[in-house]
Amino acid sequence: MRKRIVAGNWKMNMLQNEAVKLVSDIRAELQNRKQPLPENSGIIIMPPFPWIPFAVEQTRDDEIISTGAQNCYHQQKGAYTGEVSPDMIASAGAGYVILGHSERREYFEETGGFLRKKVDAVLQTGLKPVFCCGEPLEVRESNRQNELVKQQLKESVFHLSKEDFSRLIIAYEPVWAIGTGKTASPQQAQEMHKFIRDQIAERYNGQLAADITILYGGSCKPSNAKELFAQEDVDGGLIGGASLKAKDFIDIFFSF
Ligand code: PEP
Repeated sequence: MRKRIVAGNWKMNMLQNEAVKLVSDIRAELQNRKQPLPENSGIIIMPPFPWIPFAVEQTRDDEIISTGAQNCYHQQKGAYTGEVSPDMIASAGAGYVILGHSERREYFEETGGFLRKKVDAVLQTGLKPVFCCGEPLEVRESNRQNELVKQQLKESVFHLSKEDFSRLIIAYEPVWAIGTGKTASPQQAQEMHKFIRDQIAERYNGQLAADITILYGGSCKPSNAKELFAQEDVDGGLIGGASLKAKDFIDIFFSF
């Protein structure tokens, strides 16, 4: 059974005291629920870089919550002013890195080739990439979403060996749904997740495709998470806005 995950992408939000409070509120929300924890599931919180050590410390003994970063560079050290390496993220105690988020692709002009280098560097360090793919509105409107997502996978992750690929988490995030309040319908999400799984089966094999966790991202919230997560090929969510409210975030986790 593949792992089900709810990951919170805080983006560039939260000052230090707010970040510490949010992690402690998330832990309290989780502990105070009377329901049993969803089976085979986990939570990843992805704060801005400076707050990673705090989040790691606060969740050190937590069996459900882990910490991740939102980005990194592809070199491990050297004269790259302002950049953060996978080794640094690992040595701070985080276990995951988001790569290929549409905001990085759009505002920082990150290309598929550049992301491929980041994916390699992250895997080399032993971290797990949360690799994002997804189409902008005009591509969806012209029904070319499958073509584009396939190209994104080919450019940045389909060069990996089977062993390395098995360490990825994929996040399908239609750009038109991110931070817009518009969510992909459960059917649209299922269709694309199934398509991605089929591409993985074709490139690698059916077992690997069946084992890989594929998250949905894009205006996922407590009111729509249950229906999205009920889809056969949707294994959880990458959550932006709703991950900044402890109650909403944990409600989403309990939507499995
Ligand atoms: C995201 O940034 O990955 C995201 C899905 O954002 P939101 O949930 O706010 O749409």
